[in-house]
Amino acid sequence: TPGGNVRVVVRVRKFLPREIDRKAECLISMNPRTQVTCLQAPKPKPGDQGKPKSQARGKILENKSFTFDNSFWSHNEEDEHYAHQEDVYNSLGEEFLDHNFEGYHTCIFAYGQTGSGKSYTMMGTPERPGLIPRTCEDLFQRIENSPSPDISYNVRVSYFEVYNEHVRDLLVPRTDPPHYLRIRESPSEGPYVKDLTEVTARNYTELMKFMRKGDVSRTTASTKMNDTSSRSHSVFTITLKQIHHDLSTDETTERTARIRLVDLAGSERAKSTEATGARLREGANINKSLTTLGRVIAALADTKKLRGPRKGKELVPYRDSILTWLLKDSLGGNSKTAMIACIAPADYEETLSTLRYADQAKNIRTRARVNQDQMS
Ligand code: ADP
Ligand code: MG
Repeated sequence: TPGGNVRVVVRVRKFLPREIDRKAECLISMNPRTQVTCLQAPKPKPGDQGKPKSQARGKILENKSFTFDNSFWSHNEEDEHYAHQEDVYNSLGEEFLDHNFEGYHTCIFAYGQTGSGKSYTMMGTPERPGLIPRTCEDLFQRIENSPSPDISYNVRVSYFEVYNEHVRDLLVPRTDPPHYLRIRESPSEGPYVKDLTEVTARNYTELMKFMRKGDVSRTTASTKMNDTSSRSHSVFTITLKQIHHDLSTDETTERTARIRLVDLAGSERAKSTEATGARLREGANINKSLTTLGRVIAALADTKKLRGPRKGKELVPYRDSILTWLLKDSLGGNSKTAMIACIAPADYEETLSTLRYADQAKNIRTRARVNQDQMS
């Protein structure tokens, strides 16, 4: 298949206690039949003298609607269309894992402001596991139930984060002194992290152990360094290798699929320019990966510019930031890719910005191919 568009879905979360306390109103509605998501302009509060703050700054707020490939209503459990963690997995994760077994690389990334539900969707909680643990479980279930005795499997995993334009290994973190990894680019494999720890997982339990270990190093650093998780991008990668030995012909073929699951930094970090001092340096760097991601998406989405065999190649600024360089293939190359736009129910401006971003990503086409090699 020549290519497909980036799959874009949206998910709205429930109210958090602070929103209930301030009696926030839900600005989101979703039509489960048409997949249209509506964002309603907030009603002015009594104290605002008839004008919301942003309107007083000269902006006109209006209702907006967007159509995505899927819309997940996770706002109130009473609703008959409520989307549980399992529903998100069943409608996206499962299909992407099918592609992995066919030999395609995939990437699912969560985008949205801090507190919009990215980590909940990707990682979840022990009681309500998200896409990453469900993918791990389904992966080994499929391997263990594999009917074919002449296929053997190899599963490897790595986990890193990009923080402040540095790459940190989450499986073997070296914090004293801090140790950062470098990026290289190979003609065949594309950009990769040099010396990144990659371990073999023989079963689900082992895979989960590595996942938790990585998550602990992420959280530990986050507590020490004043909530880095809203500023860092984490990339969990599973590599699935299927070695098929055909007994009748004595031929061996190998299929390799990379499963990338990305939890991005809070999207509000892309535009915080009012910070000062150390915060500015950090903010400026975070700006870099997120704003570059925005520029890469904008360039890739501009299909008019990209049409033609060679046109546009230089217009996509992948190498301007660590994140976009590493995700180059997932964003505009050999990968089936999905974006989950996570939104809060009562935040007009940030939600509008996320929905616009997601709307643009719908135009991106990737060129996924089966990664298969004849070994003998
Ligand atoms: P982010 O990673 O985008 O900063 P989180 O995933 O940490 O946001 O979500 C913020 C809070 O909202 C967490 O307490 C999380 O458990 C809760 N939450 C997010 N999405 C949902 C959801 N769909 N259902 C229930 N709780 C959610
Ligand atoms: Mg998070």
